[in-house]
Amino acid sequence: TCPFSPNAIIDDGCVSYATLDRLNSKVKPAVDNLVQTTDFFSHYRLNLFHKTCPFWNDEDGMCGNIACAVETLDNEEDIPEIWRASELSKLEGPRAKHPGKKMQKQNPDRPLQGKLGEDVGESCVVEYDDECDDRDYCIPEDEGTTSNGDYINLLHNPERFTGYSGQSAKSVWDAIYLENCFKKSSFPKSADLGVSNAPAEPAALDFKHVLDSAGRQAQLQQQRQSFPDTPFVANTGYEVEDECLEKRVFYRVVSGMHASISTHLCWDYLNQSTGQWQPNLACYESRLHKFPDRISNLYFNYALVTRAIAKLGPYVLGPHYTFCAGDLLQDQDTRDKVAAVTQHAASVPQIFDESVMFVNGEGPSLKEDFRNRFRNISRVMDCVGCDKCRLWGKIQTSGYGTALKVLFEFHENQRPPSLKRTELVALFNTYARLSSSLAANGKFRAMIDLRDKGS
Ligand code: FAD
Repeated sequence: TCPFSPNAIIDDGCVSYATLDRLNSKVKPAVDNLVQTTDFFSHYRLNLFHKTCPFWNDEDGMCGNIACAVETLDNEEDIPEIWRASELSKLEGPRAKHPGKKMQKQNPDRPLQGKLGEDVGESCVVEYDDECDDRDYCIPEDEGTTSNGDYINLLHNPERFTGYSGQSAKSVWDAIYLENCFKKSSFPKSADLGVSNAPAEPAALDFKHVLDSAGRQAQLQQQRQSFPDTPFVANTGYEVEDECLEKRVFYRVVSGMHASISTHLCWDYLNQSTGQWQPNLACYESRLHKFPDRISNLYFNYALVTRAIAKLGPYVLGPHYTFCAGDLLQDQDTRDKVAAVTQHAASVPQIFDESVMFVNGEGPSLKEDFRNRFRNISRVMDCVGCDKCRLWGKIQTSGYGTALKVLFEFHENQRPPSLKRTELVALFNTYARLSSSLAANGKFRAMIDLRDKGS
């Protein structure tokens, strides 16, 4: 029988790391193809530079490295054709037809006040206003605001080593993990921290205790040694003993996202003596290999997002969703590429059973708390002092937020989910990030095996 609780990941005989690696060998080419070769999924519009950190004053934390910079698309001709001029009128998602109320009042025809260029039909590029849907797990990105949003070609701005570190990065991670302290009234929520200081010490200590759980680390180490055939989730509770399922899941999502970011920065690392971008094994060993729980959480996120994508497949490929391609052929091409990803994602049934969450014990009462905490994490992203890290931090927070929304707010056979274009783009790009993290982890493991055999 499965040694892990049915609460997290289930299938008939337990999902193992190897199962997910095998799945990923099919998913990766498909999801890379989607995010790298379609305009719809390779471009993201967000408000990257115009928001200030709502929690503390972090002017000193700005990263000045060139690697931290983000290249935005400032000229209209660089914006994919599908978002220009007449093509814009074809941008259509389930919510695309409802311009925000605020904007409608201001100027129903040109909510962006001509900022994209005089000939651009803006009504479709603007999807909605910035108001949160009750079911959103993050602050929706800003396709629908009247403030300046920036178009970004994600292919020109890969997530990789930037050199951003120190107190600023630490404060952000601390604040993010602090959100894990559900209903511990003695600890301030980041939202309550005001503008003065980084997170309070007690919560950080509380969290450290969790990470330092020596017994659990040893157990996981043992599990890793028999890698890859053991189930990758022993249970969901090792980080926060005695915590309920929902809190453990919350922690794992955050830690898995952190592990994925660490993997990418170690994989695409700048060797400052040669100027070459290359994998840095020492970086991987110190940040991930020594911490099997982090790797476990990375795979956990892969399973969670896989399930969300599989669940979403029938809706997003249904007749109500168009990908706003400039012509029918392009639209069909995008749809086919989405279908390839969702079909692979659906090929491992019951990879993650979301139906057990928010049902027992204090679960139902935690749902709103869970949602609000995730929203706080998306606010904390405005405190990241490196543009490129903020870009990918925001995309991935939004991607996980969308996955959670799909898992917990949409029920099969009910009305189709209402997702913004940005949510969809973030979800699939987050899946692509996780997919490349799994692949990079495999290559790093092979490098370690090779080195250890040689010695
Ligand atoms: P950090 O990664 O800062 O970790 C801080 C502490 O958290 C660690 O000491 C450890 O106790 C704990 N911890 C670490 N990993 C995990 C985990 N997976 N689960 C649980 N606990 C953990 N840098 C880049 O070069 N490129 C990027 O694209 C990038 N994106 C970033 C995005 C965000 C949102 C943030 C906040 C930072 C980003 N950074 C990026 C910086 C990077 O994440 C590190 O903060 C930085 O490299 C310093 O690393 P560190 O060794 O001090 O540990």
